[in-house]
Parts: sequence; structure tokens; C-alpha cells
Amino acid sequence: MDKDQELQQLNEEFAKKIKSPLVLTCRQIVPGVGSANAEIMLIGEAPGQKEDELGEPFVGSAGKFLDQMLEAINLKRSNIYITNIVKCRPPNNRDPLPEEKEEFWPWLLAQIKLINPKLIVTLGRHALSSFIPEPIMSKVHGTVLRRKIPELGQVRIYALYHPAAALYNGGMRETLIKDFKKIPKIIKLIDKGEI
Ligand code: URA
Repeated sequence: MDKDQELQQLNEEFAKKIKSPLVLTCRQIVPGVGSANAEIMLIGEAPGQKEDELGEPFVGSAGKFLDQMLEAINLKRSNIYITNIVKCRPPNNRDPLPEEKEEFWPWLLAQIKLINPKLIVTLGRHALSSFIPEPIMSKVHGTVLRRKIPELGQVRIYALYHPAAALYNGGMRETLIKDFKKIPKIIKLIDKGEI
């Protein structure tokens, strides 16, 4: 079995096990998309309406913006892995509840453990706060934070604003685009052992 098949199996197993009430209200579970050999893993909050319909993360308006930023740094969805902390759409796109984040956390950890990316890119406060309690986004965005996660060991987290929040906010949008463009340089620095 290759790594992509392993990831598919892992996702199928977690999808069967998940007990969250969100499973009953969403159309489908959205495990994630991309390569199990990805060096970069993008983590958002939860599927929205379009994602719930299509079964893929970031395919609505925030996703289109994300695709533009990926294209600007020559990254394809098939070369990275994109997922969310919560893998079912919360009703009316409300914020995920703490217990929902908790319930889906072992699934995300298992995905990270298998993929073992060089860089975890969190999109927005919800994704970041799963790794780092009470982050101040305006301070940490665009910075690489190294953290020891008991189940994973040392990980590098690159904190970015959420594309949906930045989409219609000129200043935040420019900041997100600028931060996003730093990703290739960060990967080079990681490869050189400098961060
Ligand atoms: N917002 C998210 O956080 N994730 C998605 O998949 C889509 C929108």
C-alpha cells in the first residue's frame, strides 16, 4: 500500500468512527484533498456550504482566493494537502464548538502524523488555536512558530489570516497575499536547517 492509499484508508476509518452530531446535519464529511507526500499542509476551520456540497475543502469564494494565491507561488492542490480542523459543515456556517474541535482533533493529528509535512499552514484563528492557545493573529501572522505536540513531536506552524476573513478586507487581504508569498522561502530555510 502506498502512502496515498494509507491516507485514504485512514480517512475512511475516521469517517466511520466519528460520532459528532455534525455528521447528522452535514451533507457529507470532507476529509481533505491532495497528496499524502505533501511538504505543506494547509488547515482551515470547517467546510462551508460549497464544500459540504462538493466534498472538497476550500471550493467556495474563499477557496477561489486560495487557489489564486497557490498559483502565484506555483503550488498545485495535488502537491499539497488541504484539510480543516472540523471535517463536517457546522449548521449555517457557525463557528465550530470546542467539543467539535476536540472530537475531530485525533483525526487531524493522524493525518499530520502520516503526511509529516515540513510546514503546517494554519488559515485563521480557529485552526491556529488548536495548536497554540489564544493566539493574537495580528501579532503572529506571517511567522513560523515551532511547537512540540506530544503526539507529533516538533512541528512548524505558519500562521496566516483566513482567506474568507481577508477576502473583503483590503488591508488584511494584502497582508495575507504577502505572507502567503513567503511560503517557498520558508521551505528553503527549513531545508537548509535555518528555521
Ligand atoms: N473555510 C474553511 O475554513 N474551510 C473550508 O474548507 C472552506 C471555507
